[in-house]
Amino acid sequence: MSKTPPNPAKARYISPEQILKDALHKGDAGVCASFQEPTLLTEWAISLFKLASSKGLYCCYVSNGYMSLETLKLLRKAGMDGIKIDLKGNAATYKQHCGVVNVEFVWRNIREARKMGLHVEVVTLVVTDVNDDEACLEQVIERHLKEAGADTPIHFTRYFPAYKFHKPPTSIKKLEDAYKMARKAGILFPYLGNVHGHQYENTYCPNCGEKLIQRCGYKLIRYKITKDKKCPKCRTRIPIKGWPKGRIENHNHK
Ligand SMILES: [Zn+2]
Repeated sequence: MSKTPPNPAKARYISPEQILKDALHKGDAGVCASFQEPTLLTEWAISLFKLASSKGLYCCYVSNGYMSLETLKLLRKAGMDGIKIDLKGNAATYKQHCGVVNVEFVWRNIREARKMGLHVEVVTLVVTDVNDDEACLEQVIERHLKEAGADTPIHFTRYFPAYKFHKPPTSIKKLEDAYKMARKAGILFPYLGNVHGHQYENTYCPNCGEKLIQRCGYKLIRYKITKDKKCPKCRTRIPIKGWPKGRIENHNHK
């Protein structure tokens, strides 16, 4: 998508009002600004979030986390509830692959988003021979604990070759090692991504290990967290924002 030249003649404008109308019509639980960097559409997103939050829909962002603090505050004020931030690796990864981008702004936004009470998730695409070495992953995990905290989820997602980059897909073993490193370091909710059906797609109770949410890709298979947001087995509190809306295969509403 990012490699196709834009064609303004064929572009179609969809207003925030229209998006809200469609979301309400379809019974959606929320709206999300994603694909391309939504920070480029900040004014549009602010208008949408104001409308959507006034109708009780959640609002979220899928972003590279490289916005000013003022932007983040404006989005929060407009009704943003959650943000997923793509973290490309450690400072060296940014320096080598993202030009002048300074990773410190990304970490600042992760830290501040948490302070604002946003639901934050960090996602690192683990790319073969780019950011998949142990030292790099260790640094990411360490910084995540410091800035985002132990209860902020971190996802290690699998890369696949595309466009002009032909290195083999990330080894599953490396992803599993990253997961184990994160868990051992004290991150309570690490995940693997782009590995459909893997056991580390699920949410486990950090205290007793009970499988709380079973997933397969984007599908929610089983949901066992109680309505008061606790593990049904050991009663540990699980820091989750909402209650699932829509269809779950075998839900257990206790
Ligand atoms: Zn438990």
